[in-house]
Amino acid sequence: MDERTVKELAQRTAKASPQELLDAVLETFGRRVALATSLGAEDQVLTDMLCRLTKRPQIFTLDTGRLPQQTYDTIEATNLRYHIRIEMIFPDTTDVEALTTEHGPNSFCQSVTARENCCYVRKVLPLRRRLSGLEAWITGLRREQSPARGGVERIAWDEANGRVKVCPLADWTTEQVWQYIRDNKVPYNPLHDQGYASIGCACCTRPVKPGEDIRAGRWWWEAPAGGKECGLHVIDGKLVPRKDW
Ligand code: SF4
Repeated sequence: MDERTVKELAQRTAKASPQELLDAVLETFGRRVALATSLGAEDQVLTDMLCRLTKRPQIFTLDTGRLPQQTYDTIEATNLRYHIRIEMIFPDTTDVEALTTEHGPNSFCQSVTARENCCYVRKVLPLRRRLSGLEAWITGLRREQSPARGGVERIAWDEANGRVKVCPLADWTTEQVWQYIRDNKVPYNPLHDQGYASIGCACCTRPVKPGEDIRAGRWWWEAPAGGKECGLHVIDGKLVPRKDW
């Protein structure tokens, strides 16, 4: 699929609901599209929508080895509720061994570069490996989540990953997400009830205070100007992940 075809699909689905957009995406890509889930609220909404559209949705999560227990519990609850198996994608053992032996198990605290390297090994490379068999991927990104995500489109060519990227909830508010979860009794990550607005690795994510940015709980020791992104979503070329540990 080329950029022109993506634009045509975007125009055709401009007024579609998230469910209609997902339906069109499944029809277009079949088994060559998958949802990348962090088990956060948005991804749980998308999992519910996909499971209503198809019996065999492709859903994967990146198990960095540092996920909170509550996220593993949510994986199990989601598998049980929808009769699916969320695919667990792990980082390359050799890369993790090299990174942690050289820089220690908590290298992400040392600098922004060290943190980006950890995300690169544990998230970016495994994502690329999983995307290699796909033409498109679905994510729960929303424009409201942070200023850096303000330009997220519902469907667009993802230059960084060379794939089509679909963000059906791009224009949804937090309230819409939670209304959908309540209305449809969608299982959700219990960390949200403890104030976590965003779900990530246990060591790099904490609850946010009322009024704080949704991404403020991620890598809170870094200045906001750092971008608060892990490299999975390269936005406006602002974060170029590296491998220089
Ligand atoms: S969020 Fe933290 S622990 Fe997880 S991959 Fe990134 S730096 Fe490493």
